[in-house]
Amino acid sequence: MLNTFDPEIAESLNREVQRQEEGLEMIPSENFVSEAVLEALGSVATNKYAEGYPGKRYYGGCHEIDVMEQLAIDRAKALFGAEHVNVQPLSGAPANLAAYVALLDHGDTVLGMDLSHGGHLTHGHPLTHPAKVWNFVNYKTTPEGLIDYDDIEAKAREHKPKIILVGYSAYSRDIDYERIKKIADEVGALTMADIAHIAGLIAAGEMKNPVPIFDVITTTTHKTLRGPRGGMIMCKKKHRKAINRAVFPGLQGGPHENVIAAKAVAFKEAAMPEYKEYAKQIKKNAKALETEFRNLGYEMCFGGTENHLLLIDLTNKNVTGHQAEVALDKAAITVNKNTIPDDPRSPMDPSGIRLGTPAVTTRGMGEEEMTKIAKWMDRAIVGWENEAELEKIREEVKELTSKFPLYPGLKY
Ligand SMILES: *Cc1c(COP(=O)(O)O)cnc(C)c1O
Repeated sequence: MLNTFDPEIAESLNREVQRQEEGLEMIPSENFVSEAVLEALGSVATNKYAEGYPGKRYYGGCHEIDVMEQLAIDRAKALFGAEHVNVQPLSGAPANLAAYVALLDHGDTVLGMDLSHGGHLTHGHPLTHPAKVWNFVNYKTTPEGLIDYDDIEAKAREHKPKIILVGYSAYSRDIDYERIKKIADEVGALTMADIAHIAGLIAAGEMKNPVPIFDVITTTTHKTLRGPRGGMIMCKKKHRKAINRAVFPGLQGGPHENVIAAKAVAFKEAAMPEYKEYAKQIKKNAKALETEFRNLGYEMCFGGTENHLLLIDLTNKNVTGHQAEVALDKAAITVNKNTIPDDPRSPMDPSGIRLGTPAVTTRGMGEEEMTKIAKWMDRAIVGWENEAELEKIREEVKELTSKFPLYPGLKY
């Protein structure tokens, strides 16, 4: 249908399928969803308006929509041990905004991680709108690379934040939620964890779970959790009303019910034994990459990885993050340039690159392939100006990815 009606879009989609099939996707926030998730996303549930929540809608005809949304809620509750779940946030940033709206008054203070130390834009970067409405104070990591819990404690006492926020997009270690909870209790703050990157590893029991002890937990559903592009909020029962009202009608209109159906499918997948194996392999693969990069003389930020991602400091290689990203792209290896803690360079051309294993692990790759990938990446980084070398790596990458087909037989 699409092929004949809109060949421009169909052909572009086909080229995108080819790019995903042939390249090595090493961006830690990306993944490949199952065909079941794709089917739910492309379903007729997209046609339905359903403002409100299951059993309490502002539109008729929501019977089946209620079934699907309730399944998504119940599965997420079981997966994370949550008291209350809202599956309507459109993505990670809107989920964080909804949490702030639910818990804060204008001018209240949030204590969150500095962006260059692994935090996220939505945790108070000056260019974001929340930074104009609320007062964000930052903590950092120590020179050894761990979250500076003493700094959090000191700043919590000094600034009396309403929320202490943990959860990161470039930090490669686990988090001591118990310690944060203790600090928060001492200063009368609420606890919020943004587990956007690591939700899948938490669901599989491969990383510590803040849900049983924190007030509010936000996440995306499309990173390690391997669901559709979207967001979700979990919280204690006492915050249920505030969270639900902040999402709708506070910030959003009609929920995207096709995406919610796809979230339900992804949560079912994440509860299966195969998914637990997948999460274990994500971590093993990240360790294998780290080991090989160390052999090749690369410096890891945060003292290495305990999750799915690595932040590599390229300073000793005399190549910038931007140069490495562009060279790797030519070699069909996709990563992103990233700032390192207190980066002396600019965010547009920082000192590091960030990479992760969720997507290549979904393809079935293991430690052996990670060693090969690290070697290719090293050749591309060292030879970033050598076009012939980058083309040669591209051909070798293509040969490997052809052995790990992604969507066999799928057109787009
Ligand atoms: C990815 C991410 C977000 C934002 O998610 P979007 O879906 O891109 O809006 C928020 N917080 C953290 C920690 C993230 O990693």
